[in-house]
Parts: sequence; structure tokens; C-alpha cells
Amino acid sequence: MRTFKITTLPGDGIGPEVMDVALAVLDLVGSEYDLNFEIKSELAGGASLDQFNEPITESALQSCLESDAVLLGAVGGPKWDNLPQEKKPERGLLKLREVLGLFSNLRPAKIFAPLADASSLKKDVIVGSDVMVVRELTGGIYFGEPRGYDEHEGFNTLRYKKYEVERIAKVAFELARKRNGHVTSVDKANVLDSSQFWRNVVHQVHQDYQDIPLSDMYVDNAAMQLVRDPKQFDVIVTQNLFGDILSDITAMITGSLGMLPSASIGEKHAMYEPVHGSAPEIAGQNKANPIAMICSVAMMLEITLNQPEAAHRLNNAIESVLENGIRTIDIASSDSTIVTTDGMRDEIIHAFQQTDKSILHSRELVRE
Ligand code: NAD
Repeated sequence: MRTFKITTLPGDGIGPEVMDVALAVLDLVGSEYDLNFEIKSELAGGASLDQFNEPITESALQSCLESDAVLLGAVGGPKWDNLPQEKKPERGLLKLREVLGLFSNLRPAKIFAPLADASSLKKDVIVGSDVMVVRELTGGIYFGEPRGYDEHEGFNTLRYKKYEVERIAKVAFELARKRNGHVTSVDKANVLDSSQFWRNVVHQVHQDYQDIPLSDMYVDNAAMQLVRDPKQFDVIVTQNLFGDILSDITAMITGSLGMLPSASIGEKHAMYEPVHGSAPEIAGQNKANPIAMICSVAMMLEITLNQPEAAHRLNNAIESVLENGIRTIDIASSDSTIVTTDGMRDEIIHAFQQTDKSILHSRELVRE
């Protein structure tokens, strides 16, 4: 039996509710795949401020450092909005990203066919699309020096070192290999020197990944193409600023915040979390949609814990529940059966147990 250490940070608002669902799912996956999850729960965000007067403690950080992966619910809420910057719940997340060295942010946007109507794009444009945006997270124009502004001018510096581009390119190629897919590197090399440099380095790294097709695209074209025909993309890799914008465009293709997972990956550590926040207005009411959290667990199983079959089976279970018209309130339509957070958990667990592993193997793992 393999053992994995996981630190959970349920956080605030609906965070603890969706984390409870994640734990139930991990329990099930552990028993079906003979895996032992050693789970340690720590406080983060407002919950940590209330107890320790800091948004994340040294001992919580230490637990994350000693884990194979970290699962986060969400942090923040009105109770802590008026605190000084260094005490804000989000500071805990920034600290965590820094300490764990999480330089890449992965935002998948996969369309679940039964929810295609929730998108603002036409159904035939989006059904079948499955895009992964790999955004460089710790460099580029958000951090470059010098920076500043006065009444006459404002400026920032866009600068990438070779190692920063190399390591993010590797993340993209490795992911594409796992997905049997291809990589689109997005830049603005026709105008920006830093982008020409980015492009050169990505192509150098590509020498080690000749089995993965690579193409380059200018960012303005990529924004158009994502809306025109998202199915042409598999993995998109890009710098911090372009990734910030493109990952929000891809998120909107799916149409629902409650469905979107994300991962932040470094050389040694990884953290998985839903894209949504703590939704304080529905906290404690058993109304939160746990699917983004379950998809985050699936990403963790696939990327860090190397359990692709369990991950595919979870995603299949979600799809089949949605196909049966079962919805939490945030994604409900007039003809759907509305369930609570716990109800959605039970439905997905039931669907997971019903999936025949061998059928799944031939249908999902062997892509044509
Ligand atoms: P939000 O994502 O919490 O909520 C936006 C809207 O989506 C709300 O209507 C909410 O009810 C709904 N929603 C979100 N997730 C849902 C789910 N799983 N099920 C059903 N409905 C869901 O964003 P916000 O309102 O801008 O922020 C609320 C708090 O969350 C703020 O304190 C913000 O700072 C924090 N936040 C935290 C993170 C994080 O922890 N990574 C991310 C974004 C926002």
C-alpha cells in the first residue's frame, strides 16, 4: 500500500464544507486503489487569524513543506476585510506560494457536455473542448524591477531569466505528454524582446520533448482563437500577465465558477484548490457546489500522485451525475434535480462506485 502525505487547509466560508467532500472522496479512492492518505488539517486565512492572529502559522507551513501535496478550500470573508494588508487572509496564500516555490499555475477548463448551455458561447463551439492554461506565476511584469509611477509617468519591467522560462516550459510539455496532447506557447514576439527570448527558450526545451507538437501563437490571436474555436488548444503556456488574462477567458468558456479547479506547482511542492472563493453568503447552508473541489482532488491524483485512472474515474463520475440532471443550485436549470452539497457528494461517490474500471480503461486512458 502506498502512503501519501496531504495537508488540508479548509480555510473560510464554504471552504470547510467543500473540503469535507474532498476528504470523503479521498477515503473512497484510497480504499478502491489501496492507497493510504495521511491527512493533516491546518488552519489558513481568517480561521488562522481568529486563532493565532496570523493568516498562516509556521507550523502549518512546515506541515505543507513535509507533504506530497496541499489541498486548499478557500480563504477570506467580510469579517477580515478591514484588517491591515499584512493581516489579510490572502497574505497566508501568498506566503504559502512563496515558501513552497509554486512558480506555475495550472487552470484547466474542460466542458462537461451536460453544462454546455451555461456557457455564453454556442454549444457546438465548446462541446469537446479541454484546455489547460499553464501560467508563469512568480516572474514577469508583476514582479520586475524597476517599477513605479509619479504624476508624469508610470512604468514596470518585463524580464524573464532563462531558468524561469525553462522550468515553466517543462511543466507544460510534461503535462501535454500526460494528456497525449500538444503545447501552444503564447507570446508577443513580434513586438516584445522578452517574448522573442521566451520563444527561443521554449524551443530549446522542446528539443527534449520531440514527441510533443509545439506551436507558437501571438497573444492577441490566442484571445480570439480561444473564443472562436477552443477545441484547437490542449496546453497553453504563457507568461504571468498573458496567463492571468487568458485563464479568465477560458474559465468563462465553461460558464460556472463552481466547476473550476486549479493547481500551483513548483519544483518540489504542489497545491490544489478550486478557483472560486469562500462564497460567504452561502457558507454553512449546505448549498455550495463541491465539484470544483472534487476536480481539484482529481488533478492532484493525476499530476502529483500519479493515479490517472482514479482521476479519470472521478471526472467520469461527475459527468454522469450531471448527465442525470442532478445539480447544486448554482448550476441548476428548470428541469434539473436540485441537491445539497452533501447530496452532490453522495451522488458522485455512488457514480464512482458504479463505474466499471475496465470499460473506463479502454474508453478514457487510451486516447485515439
Ligand atoms: P466567490 O468565488 O467566493 O463568489 C462569487 C460568486 O460565486 C458568489 O455568488 C458565490 O456564491 C458563488 N460561488 C462561488 N463558489 C461557489 C460554489 N462552490 N458553489 C456555489 N456557488 C459558488 O468570490 P467573491 O464573492 O468575490 O469572494 C468572496 C471571498 O472569497 C472574498 O473574501 C475573497 O477575497 C475570497 N476569495 C478567495 C479566493 C481563494 O481562497 N483562492 C479566491 C477568490 C476569492
